[in-house]
Amino acid sequence: MTRFDVIIAGGSLNGSTLALALAQGGARVAVVDKLPTPTQLSSDFDGRCYALALASQRLLAALGLWEGVVDDAQPINHVKTGDGRAGEGPLGGFLHLDGAEIDEGLMGYMVEDRHLRPVLLKAMESTPRITVMAGQEIVAQEAGPGAVTVTLASGEQLAASLLVGADGRGSPTAQRAGISRTTSDYGQTALTCAVAHELPHGDTAHQFFMPSGPLAILPLKGNRSSIVWSESHARAEELAAASDEAFLEALRPVFGDFLGPIRLAGQRFAYPLNLTVTDAIIAPRLALVGDAAQGIHPIAGQGLNQGLRDVATLAEVITQARRRGEDIGNPLVLERHRAWRSFDRTALTAATDGFNRLFSNDNPLLRSVRDVGVDIVASLPDLRQRFIREAAGLTGDLPRLLQGRPL
Ligand SMILES: Cc1cc2nc3c(=O)[nH]c(=O)nc-3n(C[C@H](O)[C@H](O)[C@H](O)COP(=O)(O)OP(=O)(O)OC[C@H]3O[C@@H](n4cnc5c(N)ncnc54)[C@H](O)[C@@H]3O)c2cc1C
Repeated sequence: MTRFDVIIAGGSLNGSTLALALAQGGARVAVVDKLPTPTQLSSDFDGRCYALALASQRLLAALGLWEGVVDDAQPINHVKTGDGRAGEGPLGGFLHLDGAEIDEGLMGYMVEDRHLRPVLLKAMESTPRITVMAGQEIVAQEAGPGAVTVTLASGEQLAASLLVGADGRGSPTAQRAGISRTTSDYGQTALTCAVAHELPHGDTAHQFFMPSGPLAILPLKGNRSSIVWSESHARAEELAAASDEAFLEALRPVFGDFLGPIRLAGQRFAYPLNLTVTDAIIAPRLALVGDAAQGIHPIAGQGLNQGLRDVATLAEVITQARRRGEDIGNPLVLERHRAWRSFDRTALTAATDGFNRLFSNDNPLLRSVRDVGVDIVASLPDLRQRFIREAAGLTGDLPRLLQGRPL
């Protein structure tokens, strides 16, 4: 049986970043993903574009990965949010957050999945301490006093001091460990694609709150933006099945004309949305990171950022424990990770859930409550600055990688 320090179940964005961070700290890591690598690299695999907070960008820089991404990354200097109504497009009453109001000068970057994923997967392949086992599924795990043993569908067995579940929403690893989760359907599906427009976006991310769900228009390189358009499942299904031209016809009045004429600039993708949160993020010789621990609404573009906070925290806790000669699967070590992540995990999950419920409706009472909220934030520079720092991921007790410092 091959022995590692850590086995990671799931080698997508969070699993691969964690593997690279742990390897930087000296650990020997196995990454098992049921998908073959070419599937993850194919052009129609994932149409998402991520609003990466500045702290997440710093993590990628500290791991030596940012130089592979930077040329395709679009800075986000402004965030504008406001109400909108189907058929009327965006309405007035914007809250404008300007990155120039904080010392760092910007809030983050937009990065397309097709540019980020290959950088992570290639970096894993060229890191001697990482063994990638792609196209292999974990079917069983057993935590013992000195090691956790993992069985693959092929029958092969691996052992390690710690198993990490980075295997996404509904994580089979969490399930096998008996960790329960609470899941609730938002009744919404996010439609996402890139659009080209005539006018420049001015490095600005827009979020319009429509009664059926938010529409985000996020700047990409050139005169292009990525949209994340949340609609009811039934309406989204219709739109997903429509021709490109019919889809654009439906999008135009929602998008508005502030960027001039628009056209599709890539494939369309659909993601049904739910909130899924586990009751625990640790168990004997097990820790969970990313969507495996909490899958949230994309309303604030925070899911991956939150996952990378899990990654940075766990990598630091494990690396320090190894340097001290501790057993990294020891409950006391894992408890440090749980305690460090506890507040941020609960606060952000509740905030994104609350925002979506407050903003995805046309109730006049809730509309006036949020208008007052927006006016208050807009009129108080200190509060506005706090929101900007939150969006940039710069608040709280940040682990070293999120400060841009190596482990
Ligand atoms: C429309 C949309 C827009 C978004 N925009 C943003 C944004 O702007 N900013 C942001 O921060 N976040 C955003 N998010 C959230 C972000 O996409 C997710 O949080 C992130 O991709 C989760 O990555 P992950 O690695 O945790 O999980 P996943 O990507 O789900 O990966 C799980 C991996 O585990 C593997 N796996 C599963 N079961 C097994 C098994 N038994 N054995 C081995 N492997 C297994 C799978 O093959 C997969 O590769 C968005 C989400 C959506 C839906």
